[in-house]
Amino acid sequence: MMTPLPPRRSLKSETMMPTSARPRRLLRTALLAPLLALAGASAAADAPPSLPILVYHQIRVAPGGPPDGMTVVSVKRFSDEMRWLHQAGYRTLSMDEVARFLKGEKFPQPAVAIQFDDGWSSALAAEPVLDHYGFQATFWIIVGSVGTGALFLDWAQVRRLDRSSRFKVYSHTMTHPYEAGKTLVDWVDGKTAGKTAADARLELTESKRVLEEKLGRPVQYLDWPAGVFDDALVAMAKEAGYTALVTTVDGMNFPGGDSLRIHRTVIDGACGEKDFRAILKDGRYRACAAPAN
Ligand SMILES: [Zn+2]
Repeated sequence: MMTPLPPRRSLKSETMMPTSARPRRLLRTALLAPLLALAGASAAADAPPSLPILVYHQIRVAPGGPPDGMTVVSVKRFSDEMRWLHQAGYRTLSMDEVARFLKGEKFPQPAVAIQFDDGWSSALAAEPVLDHYGFQATFWIIVGSVGTGALFLDWAQVRRLDRSSRFKVYSHTMTHPYEAGKTLVDWVDGKTAGKTAADARLELTESKRVLEEKLGRPVQYLDWPAGVFDDALVAMAKEAGYTALVTTVDGMNFPGGDSLRIHRTVIDGACGEKDFRAILKDGRYRACAAPAN
């Protein structure tokens, strides 16, 4: 009933992307490049601080199970990716730090944030790897799925993760509506039978309330199910008390970026080292798995 599925990059969220941002950045880089070369300065040293946010879902520990792809990565590949980050000197940011980065606080570069969507219990397989490198991570939990079966984390696991000094848990709504025609945007627009804007609001307020009660601290960040949102939902989330909202609109984050439309890049578990390193540079999503048919 509540099988959360692959967050897709919806058309809706695509339209939210600031289309002017990338070309302008490219242009500026192109204009500056000869000057930098003349001055003997490296482009990297003068580049503005940037922050890619990597999104994972399920971790595959056994040979069987769902194939590596958009929402599944093997623990072997995940370990490789964390090693590459470590070797390249990356510092990992918590969501509090992501929010402060967007407000202009300086963090040592290169920086990255590692996040897990949906609250799959298999994501616990990432824990020893993250521990090994002392990496921070954020877990976005579907509150209504917690403890509903072996696939999902239970409350003891959620609480344990959240009490770690390096991990934190935030809201991914109560029930994670994701099917076409039945997303939160559809609810608000009155396009889903039996669902209204009030129901959508409850997904935001109730998941916040329950998590705050279970964790005993404020839960001020929200992750949109399937990455689907619009301006009306952003306003609703703000009203509900959320101060930062994460999307699956790919791309880098920069100081001064919109805390209510944070870019993140889903990591396709079928991608290799070359693609992973490219994502760290430009934040662009890469699909590597063969499309299902
Ligand atoms: Zn999700």
